[in-house]
Amino acid sequence: MTEENILERLKRRVAVPRGSRIIVGIGDDCAIFRPRGGREDLLFTTDLLIEGVHFERATHAPAVVGRKALVRGLSDIAAMGGDPLFCLLSLGLPEWAGRGWVERFYNGLLKCAKEAGVILAGGDLARTDRVMCDIVVAGSVPKGRALRRDGAKPGEAIYISGRLGGSALGLATKRGRAWQRHRRPEARLALGRYLREKLKATAAMDLSDGLSLDLRRLCLASNVSAEIEAPPTFPGATLEQALHGGEDYELLFTVRPGTRVPARFQNLQLSRIGVIRRGSAGRVVLNGRPLAPLGYDHFRGS
Ligand SMILES: [Mg+2]
Repeated sequence: MTEENILERLKRRVAVPRGSRIIVGIGDDCAIFRPRGGREDLLFTTDLLIEGVHFERATHAPAVVGRKALVRGLSDIAAMGGDPLFCLLSLGLPEWAGRGWVERFYNGLLKCAKEAGVILAGGDLARTDRVMCDIVVAGSVPKGRALRRDGAKPGEAIYISGRLGGSALGLATKRGRAWQRHRRPEARLALGRYLREKLKATAAMDLSDGLSLDLRRLCLASNVSAEIEAPPTFPGATLEQALHGGEDYELLFTVRPGTRVPARFQNLQLSRIGVIRRGSAGRVVLNGRPLAPLGYDHFRGS
């Protein structure tokens, strides 16, 4: 069982009816809802952050956990080129997480929310056997302009922001800038808007589970394949970590041939890593050899 085949089975059961205001349902970074008569589309994303799965109590301070819970959702809004509006947080708390822990958790989350201009508008609380955060983030984008995964066409160039593998390296070593990168990811909101408004990117998504798996997802959605070379790696990270390590939260995007993409956006490097090709949907080739989608899948092997 993999996440991919669970989603495939689910998608077959919840086909969106014709005339629905759901423009995009299951399978992209956000669902897209089009309000009647509006000039904007609304974006919705939801993410889980679970103790023992996504973070450890011993190594992740509560403020780091709170911040990360929100950044994961914001990153999905960034991936669609959207502006975040508000969030809802449901929090499961075990007995060990006392008032101090909860206070610091919200400090981390609310500081991040303020920076991104997002309002915490509601949620729920429950007693659980470990910390569980379920965040919903809503955003908006001009009508019909959201960056989706299904727009990539043969001949278009593939780009990524930043350098990959830093989060995986940090998780392995718990040291230095890589550890900082793992604990304090950034949602690339300004970049997402720039890709939509200025570069007119044809497809985009955020790199949450590793380039090998996420690029496969983009190619499957667009019904294309991809040829890439090695992406820029975070200082000290291996190529394996850059290809398959998750939680970098950089953006992966495609642009029409001839689009002039600057080497940097603000202080963030933008790198061309390959080209979209016709052919077997979802296939990714690295330096001439098929690249296995070894990125992070919660369900692989079960
Ligand atoms: Mg995503």
